[in-house]
Amino acid sequence: MPIQAIKRKSRGFICINAHPEGCRRNVEQQVDVITSRRSPRLSGLRNVLVIGASTGYGLASRIAAAWGFGARTVGVFFERPPEGIKTASAGYYNTVAFHELARRDRLHTASLNADAFSNQAKSEAIEIIRRDFAPIDLIVYSLASPRRVDPDTGEVFNSALKPIGQPFSNKTIELDSEKVVPVTLEPANNKEVTDTIAVMGGEDWSRWIDALLANDLLAPAVRTVAYSYIGPEVTWPIYRDGTIGQAKKDLEATAQRLDTRLVTERGGRAWVAVNKAVVTQASAAIPVVPLYLSLLAPALKSRDLDEGPIEQMHRLFRDYFAGGSITSIDQAGRIRLDGREMRSDVQEDVSRLWPRVTTENLREITGFADFQRDFRRLFGFEVDGVDYDAPVETDLRW
Ligand code: NAD
Repeated sequence: MPIQAIKRKSRGFICINAHPEGCRRNVEQQVDVITSRRSPRLSGLRNVLVIGASTGYGLASRIAAAWGFGARTVGVFFERPPEGIKTASAGYYNTVAFHELARRDRLHTASLNADAFSNQAKSEAIEIIRRDFAPIDLIVYSLASPRRVDPDTGEVFNSALKPIGQPFSNKTIELDSEKVVPVTLEPANNKEVTDTIAVMGGEDWSRWIDALLANDLLAPAVRTVAYSYIGPEVTWPIYRDGTIGQAKKDLEATAQRLDTRLVTERGGRAWVAVNKAVVTQASAAIPVVPLYLSLLAPALKSRDLDEGPIEQMHRLFRDYFAGGSITSIDQAGRIRLDGREMRSDVQEDVSRLWPRVTTENLREITGFADFQRDFRRLFGFEVDGVDYDAPVETDLRW
C-alpha cells in the first residue's frame, strides 16, 4: 500500500498526478452545496445513469441526482487507476470519494470505468442496470473526449479544436509560460470536421439510448440531457463556428431526434442544456478559452453571479428534473443555464478588458491567478485544508 506525500507534477500546464485527499475534499464540497440547498429532498428521479460521471459537469450531475433526490446512480467514465507509486487520475479519486460519501449517506451507487464509446461498456452498463438500477429515469450524457474508436469498424476519430473556412487570429494565454501571445489557428480540413463530429457529436449518445430502449430499461417519462456551450462572439470562430461547434450542432440535432423518439416510445423527453463556461480539463484545452475564463470570472464574481458546475447542476436538476413541468426552453428547444454568463453587462466587462490584456498586466486586470488555482484544484492540489506534506494512501479502490 503506497503511502506517500504527493506534490503536484506538471507537464507544461497540465498536472500529471492527482491528490486523493484534495479530490475527496472537492467532492465533499460539492455534496455540501447540494445538501445545504436541498430542502425538502426533491423527488422524481430514482435511477440515474451518468455517462462521463467522474469530473466536471458529469460528476456535478451525479452528485445533484444522488444527494438532491436520493437517486441511485450508475456512473460511467474512463479514468486511470493507481499503479504502484503512480497516483490515479483525478476522476478516479473523485469516484473513490463519491462512493465513500454515498456509503456514509446510504445512497446506492455503481461505477463502470470503461470506454463509453465501446459496445462492451454499453453491455456491461446494461447488465449493471438490469441487476440493480432499472428502470432508468434520467440519462445524463457528459462525455468530453479527444478521440473515439468506432465500435463497429475500429476506425479512430480524433477531435480537433480549429476554426472552419478561414484562419482565426486573436490573443491567448500561453499557459506554460504565462504569456499573452498572438495566436493564429489554421482552418480545419473536412476530415477534421467530420472526425470532431464523430467524437463529440450525438452518435454515441443515440447509441446509448438505442441500447437502453432495446433492453427495455427506460422508465415511462424517462428524460435525457447532454451538455453544450454557445458563449459570446469573441469565442465563436474557435468554438461555435469551429469544429467543436459543428459537433455541438450535431448533438442538438440528435436531441431533437431522440426527443421525438422518446415522446413516442416512453412519453419521455430529450434535451441539450447549454451550460456556462467553467474551468475543467476539457475547457482549458481550447485555445483562447483560458483568457476568456480569466476575464469572465471576475465579471461574474463582482456581481455575485458566479457559479461552478455544481451550482448549475443544482439549478438544472431542481428546475427541470423535479416534478414534470419544464421551466423554460429557448427557441431552439434548448435548456439555457448560461443566462448569467451571457448578460450584456458581464460581456461588456469582458470585451472592454480583452484588448488591454498583456503579459505584464495579466495577473492585475484578469482573474488568471484564480483560473490557475481552479485548474490545479481539479487535480486535488491547492485545496484549502489539505496538508500536502502529509503522506496519504494512493492505492485506493471504490
Ligand atoms: P471533463 O473533462 O471534466 O469530463 C469529461 C468526462 O468524460 C470525464 O468523466 C471522463 O472520464 C469522461 N470520458 C472521457 N472520455 C471517455 C470515454 N472514452 N469513456 C468514458 N468516459 C469518458 O469535461 P466537462 O467540461 O465537464 O464537459 C462535459 C460536457 O459539458 C461536454 O459535452 C462539454 O462540451 C460540455 N460543456 C462544458 C463546458 C465547460 O466550460 N467546461 C461548458 C458547457 C458545456
